[in-house]
Amino acid sequence: MSMTIAFIGLGNMGGGMAANLVKHGYAVRAFDLSEEALKKAEAAGAGRADSAAEAVAGADAVVTMLPAGKHVEAVYSGDVFGAAKPGALFLDCSTIDVATARRVIEAAEGKGFAMVDAPVSGGIAAANGGTLTFMVGGTDAAFAAAKPILSAMGKAVIHAGGSGNGQAAKICNNMLLGATMVATCESFAMARKLGLDPQTFYDISSVSSGQSWSMTSYCPVPGVGPQSPSDSGYQGGFAVGLMLKDLKLASEAAAAVGASVPMGNAAEALYQMLANKGEGARDFSYMIEMLDGK
Ligand code: NAD
Repeated sequence: MSMTIAFIGLGNMGGGMAANLVKHGYAVRAFDLSEEALKKAEAAGAGRADSAAEAVAGADAVVTMLPAGKHVEAVYSGDVFGAAKPGALFLDCSTIDVATARRVIEAAEGKGFAMVDAPVSGGIAAANGGTLTFMVGGTDAAFAAAKPILSAMGKAVIHAGGSGNGQAAKICNNMLLGATMVATCESFAMARKLGLDPQTFYDISSVSSGQSWSMTSYCPVPGVGPQSPSDSGYQGGFAVGLMLKDLKLASEAAAAVGASVPMGNAAEALYQMLANKGEGARDFSYMIEMLDGK
């Protein structure tokens, strides 16, 4: 008999992820507060549950893909812990703060359940295409049990260490991404003001020491480098609002452990300005327009 997985949180990301579990032969029982999300999950072949508890009852594993730490904590302590069968495995794929992730996993373990934090890198297209990267925190045994399930939704599944380390890897990576994107944008904007053609600057810097992923895989200048959101009006891609969310989680984590993150803090302030200008839905490479004085 195939394994039954309860999937809670079928939004932009969770919808595609649940569909990929169905494609890999898992029996998926879906629950979301949104009727529209539930209908999409049903159309993708998942069974419908009318509450989180109903989805979880009898399931071998529970996957959650929720907006933030408060939702994750509420769903696990409110429904999942009480309804799950003994031995069920929990996988939280949401991006949340490290402290909440560790607290929820500790509570799960206290009740005899194995649990991992498994946030993702990759956006909606990767969720739909099953090409996400999972960064996983948890014990060796929990990681081994979670790996086949995560592999059905992604191309890479990496064990980052103990509980919360998946979230730690995620926010350290995205803080680095936020800072390098800002630096890449200001360099291109300054190059232009100095009379240097953006394509020429790209040809030089992309094979020099200033090279980064933000430049050569996601160039913020339209028409330069491979296809990226800058080529379609900075639509789609990774939204300013989501980058800001991750930078806020990063500064919260930095404060908790006394880490100095001046570049991350600067990136957070700059993305907050973009969001305040009403550009929260734009791709995060739109930073170049603000730095260019537009
Ligand atoms: P979303 O808002 O589209 O989906 C979240 C879903 O959770 C919604 O459908 C909502 O109705 C549901 N939900 C909220 N509270 C619930 C509850 N108590 N019970 C059941 N359902 C509930 O968000 P998303 O874009 O899918 O992102 C989910 C997570 O993935 C977030 O933590 C986000 O930071 C992370 N993430 C998103 C992206 C992206 O590109 N969208 C990329 C990487 C990581």
